[in-house]
Amino acid sequence: MGQSKLNLSYPDITSREINTVVDILKSGQLSMGRYIEQFEQAFANYVGVKYAIAVNSGTSGLHLAVRSLGLKEGDEVITTPFSFIASSNCLLFEGVKPVFVDIEPHTYNIDVCRIEEKITSRTKAILPVHIFGTPVDMDPLLKLANTYNLKVLEDACEALGTEYRHKKVGSFGDISVFGFYPNKQITTGEGGMVLTNDANINKICRIMRNQGRDDNRNWFNHIMLGFNYRMDEISAGIGYVQLQRIDDILARRFQVAKYYDELLGNLCIRKPIISASKSWFVYVVEVWKNRKEIMNYLATKGIPSRPYFSPIHLQPLYVEKFGFKKGDYPVTEEIAERTLALPFHSRMTRADVEFVVDTLKRAFELYY
Ligand SMILES: *Cc1c(COP(=O)(O)O)cnc(C)c1O
Repeated sequence: MGQSKLNLSYPDITSREINTVVDILKSGQLSMGRYIEQFEQAFANYVGVKYAIAVNSGTSGLHLAVRSLGLKEGDEVITTPFSFIASSNCLLFEGVKPVFVDIEPHTYNIDVCRIEEKITSRTKAILPVHIFGTPVDMDPLLKLANTYNLKVLEDACEALGTEYRHKKVGSFGDISVFGFYPNKQITTGEGGMVLTNDANINKICRIMRNQGRDDNRNWFNHIMLGFNYRMDEISAGIGYVQLQRIDDILARRFQVAKYYDELLGNLCIRKPIISASKSWFVYVVEVWKNRKEIMNYLATKGIPSRPYFSPIHLQPLYVEKFGFKKGDYPVTEEIAERTLALPFHSRMTRADVEFVVDTLKRAFELYY
């Protein structure tokens, strides 16, 4: 399949996915068929949770999660400012206030030890995000949630396959969400999955996903406010095949991370910690100075790279709405100034990684 090996990310699509899509197109059943059910069942089994609800994006999944937990205007939810914007926007959709807690500098995840000081009488839930596939320290987080009677919504969109104490992330919260955008570990094009062990939450999510219908036999009976967040059969077919291949995909991604770790060697750059229990989403290093010059040099050699992420609290919408300013979450801000995501996907060879690293070393000689 055609590709530039040095894309920042690249989906791992084989003839199996392609043949499945062709079969679905020929079948005439493009929505609500057998693939969505098979994908949901297989996904629930893989993560180790009772119910899975496939949706048309990770963001839709997060929205359903917020609504199904009954979060509403006036409530507060504790979350991280170092994430993709959707993990916080899903609260804004419902008028819920995100209360940010700064991150730990070594994992980039919410600093669980600093959550308690932000809990108020309005706090209703904690929304941890397993950033870049690194698991949040769930034990103390769940203990806090239990003590203060808070719900837990896991944003596991970047962490499919990651384990925490020998259990898959996405199986710890009252509800959790995965995403299948093409840069994720597995893709459906656009898509997402909501997971829960709670039969009632499962039911509400299914109804809200499908225009508020309580069952599919009576198509024009709408019992609550719903959306069209359904995943189509074509996407579900791709996801089903991708999930069958996940062990191989994750192993390749881990191998590419190990190539980087080895080849970056003695360069004065902060590398992510190599861990087998982590499912690799991106390969992000920290560059302590002249990041822009280094990025530009890589670009001239055909190597894309990108700062990852830009703090949520400093996004124009959040500054305007909540009055956040520079200095509010200093660890997040410092890390965000240094991060650089390098090309990373399952199809990269050792030679590809060598080329990136050699070019990076040259950039350091010139600009560091
Ligand atoms: C990818 C991602 C999502 C979901 O994104 P969609 O593009 O809507 O599927 C949500 N949260 C985080 C942290 C993500 O990385």
